[in-house]
Amino acid sequence: MSSNESAPLTAPDCLFCRIVAGAVPATVVAQSSAAVAFRDIDPQAPLHVLVVPRDHHADVAQLAAADPALLAQVVSLAEQVASDESSGQFRLVFNTGPSAGQSVFHVHAHVLGGVELGRINA
Ligand code: IMP
Repeated sequence: MSSNESAPLTAPDCLFCRIVAGAVPATVVAQSSAAVAFRDIDPQAPLHVLVVPRDHHADVAQLAAADPALLAQVVSLAEQVASDESSGQFRLVFNTGPSAGQSVFHVHAHVLGGVELGRINA
């Protein structure tokens, strides 16, 4: 089932599915029919918002394979939040896998901005 239909795909015991459903409180700053944007509970920059698709997908690779249009809607909502709350310039981070720092396995884009961000030196 896609997010255009009535009930989103959910996973049991998923924190971000529970936030999407309104069962866990969060500071929602924007939403669309496909995605929800809410403030990170432990912000790492003046602007630090998480954008999640309403449908449950574990990570960005799985989302891209299953529903690339939905990934585009996540990016679009991230851009909207950065434009509304900051300069419109932002860093988008999808931690993918535990070794990359992913701790919640419902794909989420970290939207970071509101400050001069340094270059990433991998
Ligand atoms: P990850 O480490 O890339 O998976 O990012 C998970 C993010 O979720 C972290 O930045 C956490 O601070 C954030 N987080 C965890 N629980 C909550 C919550 O209940 N509300 C908002 N953000 C949360």
